Amino acid sequence: MTKYVYRFGGGANDGGAGNKNLLGGKGANLDGMASIGLPVPPGFTISTEMCTRYYQDGEVFPDSLKAEVADGLAHIEGVTGKKFGDAADPLLVSVRSGARVSMPGMMDTVLNLGLNDATVQGLAQVSGDERFAWDSYRRFVQMYSDVVLGLDHDAFEEALEIMKEDNGFFSDTEMEAKHWKALVGEYKTLVEDQWGKPFPQDVHDQLWGAISAVFGSWQSERAKVYRRLNDIPAEWGTAVNVQAMVFGNMGDTSATGVAFTRNPATGENVYYGEFLINAQGEDVVAGIRTPQYLTKAAREEANAKPLSMEEAMPETYAELARVFDILETHYRDMQDIEFTVERGKLWMLQTRSGKRTAKAALRIAVEMASEGLITEEEAIARVDPMALDQLLHPSLDPSATRDVLTKGLPASPGAASGIIVFDADTAERRNEMGDAVILVRIETSPEDIHGMHAARGILTARGGMTSHAAVVARGMGRPCVSGAGSLSIDNKERVLRIGKRELREGDTITIDGTSGEVMLGEVPTVQPELVGDFGVLMGWADKVRRLKVRTNAETPEDCRVARDFGAEGIGLCRTEHMFFEASRITSVRQMILAEDEAGRRAALEKLLPEQRGDFHSIFEVMAGLPVTIRLLDPPLHEFLPHSESEFAEVAEAAGVGVEVLKRRANELHEFNPMLGHRGCRLGVTYPEIYEMQARAIFEAACDVAEKSGAAPIPEVMIPLVATKRELELMKKVVDTAAELVFAEKGRRIEYLVGTMIELPRAALMADEIAEVGEFFSFGTNDLTQTTLGVSRDDAGRFLTQYVDKGIFARDPFVSLDVEGVGQLIEIAVEKGRKTRDGIKLGICGEHGGDPASIAFCEQAGLDYVSASPYRVPIARLAAAQAALKKG
Ligand code: PEP
Ligand code: MG
Repeated sequence: MTKYVYRFGGGANDGGAGNKNLLGGKGANLDGMASIGLPVPPGFTISTEMCTRYYQDGEVFPDSLKAEVADGLAHIEGVTGKKFGDAADPLLVSVRSGARVSMPGMMDTVLNLGLNDATVQGLAQVSGDERFAWDSYRRFVQMYSDVVLGLDHDAFEEALEIMKEDNGFFSDTEMEAKHWKALVGEYKTLVEDQWGKPFPQDVHDQLWGAISAVFGSWQSERAKVYRRLNDIPAEWGTAVNVQAMVFGNMGDTSATGVAFTRNPATGENVYYGEFLINAQGEDVVAGIRTPQYLTKAAREEANAKPLSMEEAMPETYAELARVFDILETHYRDMQDIEFTVERGKLWMLQTRSGKRTAKAALRIAVEMASEGLITEEEAIARVDPMALDQLLHPSLDPSATRDVLTKGLPASPGAASGIIVFDADTAERRNEMGDAVILVRIETSPEDIHGMHAARGILTARGGMTSHAAVVARGMGRPCVSGAGSLSIDNKERVLRIGKRELREGDTITIDGTSGEVMLGEVPTVQPELVGDFGVLMGWADKVRRLKVRTNAETPEDCRVARDFGAEGIGLCRTEHMFFEASRITSVRQMILAEDEAGRRAALEKLLPEQRGDFHSIFEVMAGLPVTIRLLDPPLHEFLPHSESEFAEVAEAAGVGVEVLKRRANELHEFNPMLGHRGCRLGVTYPEIYEMQARAIFEAACDVAEKSGAAPIPEVMIPLVATKRELELMKKVVDTAAELVFAEKGRRIEYLVGTMIELPRAALMADEIAEVGEFFSFGTNDLTQTTLGVSRDDAGRFLTQYVDKGIFARDPFVSLDVEGVGQLIEIAVEKGRKTRDGIKLGICGEHGGDPASIAFCEQAGLDYVSASPYRVPIARLAAAQAALKKG
C-alpha cells in the first residue's frame, strides 16, 4: 500500500527530509530543519502523490488515508501533549499547501484549525488570555469560510469594520475579548445565511474540509495560470502540511516574521527581514501594520523609530541568527525564512531558497564560492544566464512610479526614455539636436538602420522576437518593444493612439525592453555595473566552457562592445546593413537598377572603397581573431528608392531617365521575397557584386596585416545555399578575387570560404556541400522559417497562441525547435564531418544567444555560438553551464 503521510518534528523519522518531489518544498524542508535539530512545531505532510490520486479518483480520498492522518495527528498530540478537539487544552493546527517549487500566494492555507465554541474556552483558560483566544477563533472562522466554504470574503471584512466603527476604534489592536467574541457571533450568522448550515463544530470535519480545499486549490484558475507562466507541469501536484500551531500573537513576548539570510536585492551578506510583535504570520504580509526591521543596522539606515528585533528581543534574535547560519550551511544557499516567537520561544515555520535579483544572484554565488560554501562550478550553475541581461543594460528604477500605456514583446532588454518620432530621418535629426528619441514604427526595415542607431529605443506595432526591429535592436544594444498590437500609428497626422489616449511627435515615453511595457513620460533608470562579481564569475565560466563565443556585429562600435564583453571573433557580419549608409545608398540603388553588367560594375566601383573601409575598421578591432563576413543576402527590393527625389538622385548618378528606373524597379517586385531572389542567388546572377565584396575583404585584410602585423582571419560566408554547385560557383568568385588581390599586394592572407546552412536541403545535403565549404554556420533564423514554413517577420500574430496552446513549448524563433530544426542540424553536423573531418561549425541565428539553444549546440558538438554583442556574456555563462551539465 502506498504511504501518503510523512511525520516530522519531535524526533519522527519517516525519511521525508529533502524529498521535494514527494513532499513539496515546504514539507521536505520542515522535515529537513527538524532533522538537524532546529525548533520546528511537529506535524505531518500528505504527499504530492495523494494530490495526483485525488484527482484521478474523482476528488475523493482513499480509505487508507483516514488511518494515516489519524496516526499523524496522534504524533502531533504526543509531542505537544495536547489533544485535537480537547475542550480543556486543545491542539490547534495549520493546514498549508506546498508544491515542489514555490508558487507564492497561489494556493490555500488555513490557520488556527481546531477551534470551536468549546475549545475556544479551553484556549482562553490555558493561555490565560481571553482576547487572544477569541481573536484566534474569529481569524479561523473568517479564513475557513473564505478558503474552505468559498463564502464572500468582503462580508466578513465589512462586519469587522462596522464593529470597529460602532466602538469608535481605529485599529484592530483596540478590540478587546468581548468585541472579538461578538464578532465571532456575527461571523457564524453570516456563515449560516450564506452557506445554509451552521459553522462546522466538529474538529475532524474542519480538518478534512481544509485538506480537501488545499488539494483543491491546485486546480484553481490562478494556480493554473501561474503554472502556465512558469512551466510547472500539472501532474506535479501539491502536498498538504498539517502542523501544530504556534502563536506569535500571545502578547509582547511573542512575534512573527519573515527573513532572508542575505539581502535578496543586493546580495550583501547581511540578515534581512521584518517582524511584528504580537501578530500572526499573515499580518506581516497583509500590510495592516507596518512591520519592524530585523536588525539594528537596517533600522538605523532607514531612520526608523520602532525597535528592531535585535534590540527588542536580543536573546531570541541571537538564537535566530544562529539558525540562519545553520540553515545556510545546511542548504548551501541563501534562505527565505518564516518564523514565529511564542512567549520568547523561537519556532521555524518554513525555509526555502530565496528569490533574488540578478545582481544579488551574482554576488551571492561568487561570495559563497569564496567562502567555500559552494564550488566555483556550483556558482556558475546558480546564476541564470538570462538574468545577466538585467545587469548589462540600464534598467528602470524599481522604486519609480509608472503610468503604463500598453505592453508589447520584450524584444531587446533595457529601458529608454525619449521623445516620440515616427521616422528614421527625424530620429537622426533630433538626435543630432541633442534630443533623446524613441523611434516608433509600424515595423522597421533595413532602411531605418540609421534612425534606429540614433534612437535610444525602438517601439513597433508589428513584428515578433526575431523581426527586423528586434534583431537589429539587440545587435545594437538598443532597448526595443516590438509587436505592441494596441498601438495605432498615424504617420500622416503624426499621432500615436493607444486606446483612448493620443500622443504626438515630441511627447515623451519610456519603453522597457525587459518587460515589454510602454509608459508615459520619463521613468528614471539606473546604470549597470559590470565589474567585480560579474568579472569573477565570467572568468570561472570561461575556464569550464568548451564552446567558443563569437558575436554578430557589423560596425566597429558593436565589435568593440562585443570584444569588451569577451567575444572571441565575429560569427556573422551582415554586409547589407553597410549598404544603407547615406553616402552609398544611391550607388547601391544604381547597382540594383542597372540594366546590364557594365552598369552594375560602374556602381560597384564606387562602392568598393566604402566596403574596404568598413572591413578595414572591423579588422582593426578584431585583429588576430576570426571574422565571418557574409556576402550580400537580402532581396534587392529592400534597397529600392521610394520617393520621387530618391529616384531622381539615382537617375542622375546613373545617367539614365527616371522612367527607366521605375520600370526596372517594377520588374524587381517579388510576391515572396524571402523565398525569392536573395542570398547566393544574387551572387549567381550578379557575380560582380560578390566579386566586389570579396575584393574589399582581401584588400582590407592585407592592409591591416601590413599595418598592424596581426592579420585578421576572414571567413567568407555564402548565404542561402541549397546545392553544392551554388557554393562551387561562389567559391570560385571569392578565390579568384583573393588571388588577384594577393598578387597585387604581394602577400597572402589565410582565409576560409564556407556557407550558411539555413535551408533544409542544405542540411540534408551537407556531405556534398562540405566537399566545397570549409565551414558551416547554422543560420537558424532562416532554417526555422524554412523548416516550419512560418514567416519570421509575421509569426508574432499567432505564435503566442501556439505557445499558449502548447503547440510549441516556446517561440521557435527565440529558442531552437530542438526536435525538428535541431534534427536537421544534427544531420548536417554528421554529414559535414564525414566529408570534411574537423570542419568548423557554428551557429549565427538569434538562437546563438539563447541558453537552451546553446545547451543543444554543446550536445551537437558545434565549435562556437555567435550572439549579438549584449548577449555575449549570457552565451559565455550558458556555454559553461552546458559544458558542466554534459560532464
Ligand atoms: C539566419 O538566417 O539565421 C541568419 C543569421 O541570417 P539573417 O538573420 O540575416 O537572415
Ligand atoms: Mg538568414
